[in-house]
Amino acid sequence: MFFGRRLSSAVTSCSFPRWQATVLAALLVLGCRGHERKLVQAGSYAGSPILLISIDTLRADHLPAWGFQGIRTPNIDRLRRDGVLFRNAYSACPLTLPSHVTLLTGKLPAQTGVRDNLGYAVSPTESAALPQLFAKQGYATGAAVSAYVLRGETGLGRLFAWYEDRLPFEPGAPLGEIQRRGAETVAVARDWLEQHGSKPFFFFLHLYEPHAPYTPPEPYRSSAPTLYDGEIEYADSLVGEFVDTLVRKKIYDRAIIVLMSDHGEGLGDHGENEHGIFVYREAIHVPLIIKLPHNDGAGGSIDAPVGLVDILPTLTALTGLSTPPGVSGKPLFGPPSQQGRSIFSESMYARLHLGWADLRSLTNEEHQYIEAPRAELYDLRKDPSEKVNVLGHQRRLGAALRREIDVYDRNLTPPSTVSAEERTKLASLGYLTQPTTAPAGQLPDPKDRISEFNAYERTSELMNGGDYERAIVALRQILEKNPLFTDAALRLARAYESAGHFTEATTVYRSVLARDPALTEQVAIGLGTTYLNLRMYAEARSHAELAIKSNSGGAHLLLAQIDLAASDPLSAERDARAAAADPHYRAPAMLALAQALIKQKRCSQALEVLGGLSDGPRPSGLGARRADALVCLERIPEAIAALRDEIAAAPTKRDAYGQLAAIYLLQRQPDEAESVLGQMVSRIPSESNDQFAVMTLRHFGYAAAAERWVRRAQPGP
Ligand SMILES: [Zn+2]
Repeated sequence: MFFGRRLSSAVTSCSFPRWQATVLAALLVLGCRGHERKLVQAGSYAGSPILLISIDTLRADHLPAWGFQGIRTPNIDRLRRDGVLFRNAYSACPLTLPSHVTLLTGKLPAQTGVRDNLGYAVSPTESAALPQLFAKQGYATGAAVSAYVLRGETGLGRLFAWYEDRLPFEPGAPLGEIQRRGAETVAVARDWLEQHGSKPFFFFLHLYEPHAPYTPPEPYRSSAPTLYDGEIEYADSLVGEFVDTLVRKKIYDRAIIVLMSDHGEGLGDHGENEHGIFVYREAIHVPLIIKLPHNDGAGGSIDAPVGLVDILPTLTALTGLSTPPGVSGKPLFGPPSQQGRSIFSESMYARLHLGWADLRSLTNEEHQYIEAPRAELYDLRKDPSEKVNVLGHQRRLGAALRREIDVYDRNLTPPSTVSAEERTKLASLGYLTQPTTAPAGQLPDPKDRISEFNAYERTSELMNGGDYERAIVALRQILEKNPLFTDAALRLARAYESAGHFTEATTVYRSVLARDPALTEQVAIGLGTTYLNLRMYAEARSHAELAIKSNSGGAHLLLAQIDLAASDPLSAERDARAAAADPHYRAPAMLALAQALIKQKRCSQALEVLGGLSDGPRPSGLGARRADALVCLERIPEAIAALRDEIAAAPTKRDAYGQLAAIYLLQRQPDEAESVLGQMVSRIPSESNDQFAVMTLRHFGYAAAAERWVRRAQPGP
């Protein structure tokens, strides 16, 4: 064992002077209260169950356990009472995937090679991540995650024997926004515990709740001072449900439970609302609580700076495993030499997504140094919210920290998920085939340009409100200032698409793909869908095939939709079945499969396929497809009921109104049809919806009703 047979806390924050605390640490005392002064030996907890609970995007300073007032987190407080709290824990990266990979491997992002959420994956040769180390000891290993960015295909799935990431994918939705509610993730985690809770196990539970958009359910929506804090209270209640299960199954007492977050949230403190660009304290200071078996060390606190990179060596030490070579972290209950340590953090986001400089930082007990085109130094004791850059007065200290940070590898391997085969396909479609290079040289300082990013964020409100034309104007202005702003270009393409400007959308998509082939998985599907809307089936098909390796479900689903549009229901059936094999795309693939079966007049079978979707969350369009199948079987009243359900579930989507009106018109019930169309324009008023109503009436031969509608819709004199 690398630190002898015993473990101790480096610094306790009990009410002892510093020298005494150090002596106590040397005496290997954990915790502050007399009856809890228990020696913890290395390997004391061999065979203990281990639970990692990650609450995404949770700022430490927004928790009562860290002194925050105004919200209630009784379940996290319970873990805090029963465990050891690390007051100054830092994330290696304010991005979900790189941070979790560091957590699970004990290596910094430059070592794992995972520098961003998209375009990077865990190395296929990684064999010493936490779950793998414990699996070798006979542990069962499992994980349940709540966000697309942690899906199994990132390589994380391979690290565990069981990895549950069945997130509902909405085709066309921005990938980063795909998530599921924590309650569903907790439910699958509890099922897993039912099966594996009695033997040694390692389980990773990931909740995405405090992550934007902030949409806490009641009562948390009303009880907390902000919606972000409401999400924290809700996440706390989910932790409570999970911990209650552990107690009920008699796991809690004997378990090591690590509660942490992968990064914080800007909340505007330095101009960034969410996270990813900056590495100020609000983005990297995370909660960390470790509850040991039998509540050893309960209530103890450690002030020394530590990192999420330390979790792996801590867990191996506590359970008596040897720590694999190449690990950057240190065991957290190690000897007092941890004092004076600096914790490294980085973010490559600005460089990869915006063409601005990447940021790196070192945080120690007293200072944070941020390496940037204009470097920064903050005195955390006097100025914990980092308002005053003291680098000008502390030149010597700044220089020392700069030398210290120079030791860390700053090489950035560009995202490289494009295979040789995909490159050939890209070339055949007229895209550049040079390997992507990350921008380098003199890059802008993110702190000088953050307002441009905020302007981009504001366009999401315009998009969500359906105001695509204003979104297009705003996004074009942003791109004029910074043509390298890939995310803005992708949103511009989606805005063009949503507004029906498909040709403009293809131009933007093509320019993104030409510049950044690593985005093929994401862009090829969007571009193929746009070509489908333009009825350019050959182009749509070749772009779907571009993504067939990297995004099999999405690519096959698009192929099925192209087949349907091209009146080839047999091929559509085959492609839809292939898409349904990808669990992320099961629901939309089953809808496409039902459509293919209806086109082949296999309507009862279609109805059966749709019945198979009743177990999960209701996918949009389910009622419409059911109505198609029921009309085909001449079960008209049931078709009408299915469409009324669909309208109730999604009152702002036009298609179901149109379909219902069409059924009434075919049944020669024009009054009913007009009433449905009237509901549509009152709920989603727009000129194009009035036109849609008029065209529907005309199409079915009700010219007089259509003319009446035109007169009514015209604005008065
Ligand atoms: Zn995250």
